Amino acid sequence: MKEPVDHILRPLLPWRSGPAITECGYNAEKVQTITRAQFDERVKEMGQQRAAMFTCMTCADTSRRHGTWDEDPRLALRREIDWERPGYRYHEDRNGYRLRDELLAIAAIVAEHRAVFDAMVAEAQRRREWLEKKADHEKAKEQKTVLQLKPRL
Ligand SMILES: [Zn+2]
Repeated sequence: MKEPVDHILRPLLPWRSGPAITECGYNAEKVQTITRAQFDERVKEMGQQRAAMFTCMTCADTSRRHGTWDEDPRLALRREIDWERPGYRYHEDRNGYRLRDELLAIAAIVAEHRAVFDAMVAEAQRRREWLEKKADHEKAKEQKTVLQLKPRL
């Protein structure tokens, strides 16, 4: 008899607290689950083929296709938008309005705390610009070093 496979937990958006679902769409409380990190560890230990015997491959494929919030919030949101949008694959209108309602709530919260929001966005932009300048500076320094190391003829 075939052992039931583990499913992979779908990463939650940071403001969500469940109910958790698996990458393939099951209620995570009704099936055995592992995290993405645990799955990566399993592949490292067992190799791809053996890990596939113990893990839902729909979950594995889906987790490879979708980025997480920590990797890039835009990727995580795109996935949720696609999931919820009517007509997505064979889910047809099944996935409700959760993200839509959450985005409306976020916009309302931002409107109430406009100054805090603007300050945080500005800070993120300043930090990015600083990091870009630093990277340019490092690159220029490296090129200068390379030029200095070239033997003179
Ligand atoms: Zn699964």
